[in-house]
Amino acid sequence: METEIRKDYFLNKYVIITPDRAKRPHVVIAKDSNKKRVKCPFCFTGIEKKLLIKHYQFPNNQVSVIKNKYPVLTLDNLKSYGKHEIIIETPKHGTELSQLPLKNFVDLLKVFQDRTLALSKIKGIDYILIFKNQGNRAGASLDHSHCQVFASKLLPPDLEEEFQAMDKYQRKNKSCPYCDIIKKEEKSPRRIYSDRYMVAFAPYASAFHYETWIFPRRRLDNITNLSEEELISLAKVLKKVLTKIYKLGLSYNFFLHQVVSKRNQHFYLKIQPRDSVWGGVELGSGVIVNSMSPEKAAAYLR
Ligand SMILES: [Zn+2]
Ligand SMILES: [Zn+2]
Repeated sequence: METEIRKDYFLNKYVIITPDRAKRPHVVIAKDSNKKRVKCPFCFTGIEKKLLIKHYQFPNNQVSVIKNKYPVLTLDNLKSYGKHEIIIETPKHGTELSQLPLKNFVDLLKVFQDRTLALSKIKGIDYILIFKNQGNRAGASLDHSHCQVFASKLLPPDLEEEFQAMDKYQRKNKSCPYCDIIKKEEKSPRRIYSDRYMVAFAPYASAFHYETWIFPRRRLDNITNLSEEELISLAKVLKKVLTKIYKLGLSYNFFLHQVVSKRNQHFYLKIQPRDSVWGGVELGSGVIVNSMSPEKAAAYLR
């Protein structure tokens, strides 16, 4: 494949795919994350009582939600109004999410649903970002597997822009851009997974190596609208992709794409592994150079 400039499906964003520069595939040794910390604040016995928000008890599993001890947003600061929570995915210290059983993924997604519901009831909260930083290069600072929740008033400009572009597309084409993209991508060489409920693919203009988007086929506003079957299917594909990324030893971020105050959207989950390093081109121009084609990435992730 030759170097090619690709434009996002409907946003004004560009990526230069330069597969010739790719050094992969190479084997990366999985990092040793089993170091037991003397006093881990996310281990059950280490959780400070005053920080605890809720324990979710599941058969043979427990997920705990606590306040972030160093929150970026708080409800008593009008200048950075919001809530910042930590979701402790497992009581097991040192086990990475991808290595947990499928059932734990389902449990975790149920907690995502409940946090979205609970936080959306707080006055002034428009945007709830549920995300995970896994590994040093993704910004994770603690070994114990966890996700974070940012709930704020501020709708990020990137999302605002995306919604405007979506509305424009819908007016013009009388259809949801993402529904159209799903239809196209599930038949493309970028398809990673599809079943009755979910479709996953590497986006045409991937900005990251192995970038993956997972969509429910149904057009739902946010994760709280997912049925049990859809939740199980999402858990399956999420585990599948994270396991593949784990085998490469890569750090990654994933996040839910949802805005609570907005109706008329198409909820999805984005996984962005942190393999490539952004240099002068990216920081200076905003155009991203990606040395791995999404077609090649999808062939590995399938
Ligand atoms: Zn721990
Ligand atoms: Zn749609």
